[in-house]
Amino acid sequence: MQENLSIALAGNPNAGKTTMFNALTGARQSVGNYPGVTVEKREGYLHHNGLQLNIVDLPGTYSLTAYSQEELVARDYLVNERPRIVVDIVDANSLERHLYLAVQFMEMGIPMVLALNMMDEVRKSGKKIDTAELSRLLKMPVIETVARIGEGKESLIRETLAFADKKNGVWEPLEISYGPDIDPSLMDMTRLIEAENLLTGRYPARWIALKYLEGDVQIRDMGDAAGDIGRKLSRMVEKVAEHCRATLDTSPEAIIADYRYGFISSVTRQGVVTASGQKERIAMSDNIDRVVTHRFLGPALMIGVLYGMFVVTFTIGEIPMGWVGTFFDWLGATVTAITRPGLIRSMLVDGIIAGVGGVLGFVPLIMVMFLGISFLEDSGYMARMAYMMDRVLRIFGLHGCSVMPFIVAGGIPGGCAVPGVMGARTLRSPKEKLATLLVTPFMPCGAKVPVFLLLGAAFFKGAAATVLFWITIGAWITALLVAWVLRNTVIRGEATPFVMELPPYRLPTFKGLCIHTWERAWQYIKKAGTIILAISILVWSAMTFPAIPDEAARYFQIRQESLSAQLSDARTPADKEALTIQLNQVENAKAETTLKNSFAGRLGTGLEPLTRLAGFEWRTNIALLGGFAAKEVIVSTLGTAYSLGSVSAEETGGLASRLKKDPGWNALKALSMIIFVMLYAPCLVTVVAIAKESSWKWAAFSVCYTTLLAFIMSILVYQTGQFFGVLM
Ligand code: GDP
Ligand code: MG
Repeated sequence: MQENLSIALAGNPNAGKTTMFNALTGARQSVGNYPGVTVEKREGYLHHNGLQLNIVDLPGTYSLTAYSQEELVARDYLVNERPRIVVDIVDANSLERHLYLAVQFMEMGIPMVLALNMMDEVRKSGKKIDTAELSRLLKMPVIETVARIGEGKESLIRETLAFADKKNGVWEPLEISYGPDIDPSLMDMTRLIEAENLLTGRYPARWIALKYLEGDVQIRDMGDAAGDIGRKLSRMVEKVAEHCRATLDTSPEAIIADYRYGFISSVTRQGVVTASGQKERIAMSDNIDRVVTHRFLGPALMIGVLYGMFVVTFTIGEIPMGWVGTFFDWLGATVTAITRPGLIRSMLVDGIIAGVGGVLGFVPLIMVMFLGISFLEDSGYMARMAYMMDRVLRIFGLHGCSVMPFIVAGGIPGGCAVPGVMGARTLRSPKEKLATLLVTPFMPCGAKVPVFLLLGAAFFKGAAATVLFWITIGAWITALLVAWVLRNTVIRGEATPFVMELPPYRLPTFKGLCIHTWERAWQYIKKAGTIILAISILVWSAMTFPAIPDEAARYFQIRQESLSAQLSDARTPADKEALTIQLNQVENAKAETTLKNSFAGRLGTGLEPLTRLAGFEWRTNIALLGGFAAKEVIVSTLGTAYSLGSVSAEETGGLASRLKKDPGWNALKALSMIIFVMLYAPCLVTVVAIAKESSWKWAAFSVCYTTLLAFIMSILVYQTGQFFGVLM
């Protein structure tokens, strides 16, 4: 402890600051002005356990943005004088409104204590406030006071000193999520401010960025004085403001205020304030929420909404998806027609067009899905959904906000982990976000589904839908259990107590929805154009080179030539047919040999001794290796490896019967492969997205641990099955 500890009293006008100040300091006070302004400055002191405590009665303010002289003075005092602690005095009658200022202190990070003043009136009104719960949620002491009769001032001082001691002058800024429109820019601006060290000695970087967005004149002037960075920040703010105007017809300040109030109501809603007896005015949002977040109605409605969204996504999305598919088929055929057979054609058609086309084929689906998600988000319903799911997800160390990434990634089969991972941005706590990022890819995304359908159709006759159903259930269970394990081992840390911000309901604007949808779809398209293009060429090369040895090539050529010669000499139709089949077989055998001889094939063969434990032979290995790049590759590679030429997701029937007849396959191996595909590494684009949201270290971790888990589970299932002789 230090001598002359200073404590600042803050609060909205009329909260009872001056009354409390008088109760604490008695006659030991002086009144003057803050330098240069006409704002009154009241200082006093009191003795407590041999310490002299300097108490400052700050001017009453509603916010800490430099809108008025009072606010500026209060803020400058905190930053320049650095009091050990702030006591925020709030009128407990209107707790929510008064907490707005408290949240801003928390965002600055200064150690603070909350005094719930006017408790006499609160008690009379019959309203109840759970002070202990409020204290737990806000992570600070909360003391009930009645300043007029000095009630609670002793314990206020005691708790304040104890907490000041505990915090020891360390500022810990609270980070609130301001939603998808503000958060990304806020993050960019924070990075820039950190990089250039703008005022970071005085304020937290994120706080400065926030003040910029709120249009804080003082901070802007300081930024401008610093030169180039000020201009850059102003330009970034301009962009966000323009975006908010265009999409939501509002300003960044208004959105930020909305989310702050949302944050507050998420706190007070959790049983902190219970109105009894007295009729209270309830906002429209609250009325809607009575139904929408009702204990039983709420979840039922949520399931209905989600189910409806996916039905709509797939029925509407399928139509333009067909057009994109037709376009790429046409493109492939055209390129085949105008090029000569050989490596270039093979690379263009089998590599680039097939690879990029396969990914772009999902764009319409993703756009419809994002349109639905944007609607849920812009309207404010998404926040309610997360609020309801939080009770369940919390058990596993996740957060209510994790539910959307899960669903988008394929929690209802057919999503995509890339937007799912990007959707984890809404998670505020870095640890909960990381856990979400790491388990989201377990969900059965649209590219894994064809694998499940193929194997389901081949080995679990007539039960493909059931297989998919259980895979989905299994994926959820795995995601939750793994999250629990991760949160209790590598990413241990307490859960964020605040459920989340509940913004008020808003009717989304059509223009806003379109812009939000396009922004997300564009990110996906950009990936298809860059990373997927590169991967496609790589995968194709790995499966094409090195070319088969000359003798083998000559052998196939001789066989082909002799069969062709016989075919032209053949007389009976039966002979012709038999020879055509033989010719096809030679071509297929050549494709198979080429694949086996390629880099991918050698790797697949080399891994066989290991993967045989799980029942995978070299062909499966190649397909699974291709799946590291993109899961779409698995089915098409199996097609090539089983000498069927190219196989698209729709025509898996031929491949299914081929696998079924193949002596190397059985239901147990199929099950083992299903489990492997369900669990193993996220595709490359997802890995890149994970790295962008966390770090390359964690992205690498996600690849390794999932693959290890997948392999262990497959081996377990395969070996157990073999031991008991089931499914063989
Ligand atoms: P300030 O603007 O925050 O400095 O607020 P004041 O200290 O001037 O108080 C505003 C009014 O609230 C005054 O009339 C006080 O008497 C009254 N007041 C302050 N504390 C309490 C309290 O705990 N209970 C009740 N009923 N009134 C209070
Ligand atoms: Mg006063």
